[in-house]
Amino acid sequence: MRSIIKVVFLSVIAMCLFLPSALADNSVTRIDGKNRYAVAVNAAKKSWTTSSTVVLVGKDAYADALSAVPFAYQKNAPVLFTNSTSLSTDTKKGLQSLKTKNVIILGGTKSVSGKVTTQLKSMGISVKRISGKNRYDLAANIAKQMKSSSTAVVANGFAYADAVAIAPYAAKQGYPILLTNDKGLRSETSAVMKSRGVKNTIVIGGESSVNKSAYAQLPSPGRIGGANRYEVAANIVKKYNMSTSTTYISNGFAYADAASGASIAAKQGKAFIFTNEKTLPKATRQIIGSKKITSFSILGGTSTVTNTVVSQLKNPVVGKKVFIDPGHGAHDSGAVGYGLYEKNLNLDVAKRLNTKLNNAGALTTMSRTSDTFDSLQTRVSKGASANADIFISVHANSNDNSSANGTETYYDKTYASANSLKLAQNIQPKMVSALGTRDRGVKTAGFYVIKYSKMPSVLLETGFVSSPVDSNILKSATYKDRLASGISSGVSGYFR
Ligand SMILES: [Zn+2]
Repeated sequence: MRSIIKVVFLSVIAMCLFLPSALADNSVTRIDGKNRYAVAVNAAKKSWTTSSTVVLVGKDAYADALSAVPFAYQKNAPVLFTNSTSLSTDTKKGLQSLKTKNVIILGGTKSVSGKVTTQLKSMGISVKRISGKNRYDLAANIAKQMKSSSTAVVANGFAYADAVAIAPYAAKQGYPILLTNDKGLRSETSAVMKSRGVKNTIVIGGESSVNKSAYAQLPSPGRIGGANRYEVAANIVKKYNMSTSTTYISNGFAYADAASGASIAAKQGKAFIFTNEKTLPKATRQIIGSKKITSFSILGGTSTVTNTVVSQLKNPVVGKKVFIDPGHGAHDSGAVGYGLYEKNLNLDVAKRLNTKLNNAGALTTMSRTSDTFDSLQTRVSKGASANADIFISVHANSNDNSSANGTETYYDKTYASANSLKLAQNIQPKMVSALGTRDRGVKTAGFYVIKYSKMPSVLLETGFVSSPVDSNILKSATYKDRLASGISSGVSGYFR
């Protein structure tokens, strides 16, 4: 009896521990604010209850903010922003609630005016300013105020996204961020590297940001590039294996939100990645998928990171690689009935599914996108070279007896048997409820594409083109769209 109670008790514990996380969507929170000042203050409050020192940067002086994060990190200070002409109200309130005693302004009086200094002093705050003749000089002067480091980061002073993306890592390591431009290495930068005894350089951005000649003049340089800012940020996370237990994400074009994000990501030792406003870029999906990131904190309001992106981040299919195989094609029409050609129907459904999954945040590959023919072997090898997480083959059924009807899903037991079954069990009921067809259930069969695909794989028989009932449903664009949505949500359910 006692052991039964123990077993029951342990099972309940186990269910409590595993069920919610196993069935949950990804976690997404947002650090919002009515403007960039408020976003920065709210971000600061996530990491600091009080902060005696704050680093203050002009609202449009993005170059000044680039080098701010590693410096602020050493001062255990958040980075806040202000209007250049007068201290922004939200920032003022933030300084009060953080009980700030010292403000270090980065940049000249053009970006943060003397009036702001006066206002700060009248609040009983002591003010220090680090300025420079230009952005390169400012970055060098900030570096001089940091603890010495034999490694420095060099980024283009006009490509803020690159510098912001490396900031959390650079901060953690105590590396200053120095700037240059696309014309070549700046003298301010090389001088400070010499005087500070820098022996290694991490160059951020491609050759269009830091060119070959600048690169060649740097001490022991190594480059982290990328086709765009999303890829640069993703490559940084990958290269330095940064903690993704919670990953900060901001719009790659909203520099103030990005700098705020980098600042708290640095403080918390977390990874930091970029999105664009309306959809997750490919490189961002890829890093989410490869690092299996399931918890995100967004910096900025819905105007910079829309709720569409939130939905994608929440969806467990985000970053997952789905291979979609529309059965048959070209001379191989598949089943034919009631004016339906299976090859066309399969392609139509597969294309809709492709769109739905892409909108949901997945990375998709199709074996064909037009009326072409691939052998079964080719389909399998395409799925393998896509390194897909799952393989879905889309088909329709046929029978000599026109009364045969309904929807069924096949899996094979050769490879990934349990997960193939799980995938089938997630998709099948969603197809049936989308189409209102007869539920023929989940079945096993050694169809070539699911037998030889090594990843979890299923073959969907959406309905019978030989059935007057099913074929009517499958002719309807509305039903095909519902079907695609159903399959897509079944796929999400599988990854949930
Ligand atoms: Zn078929």
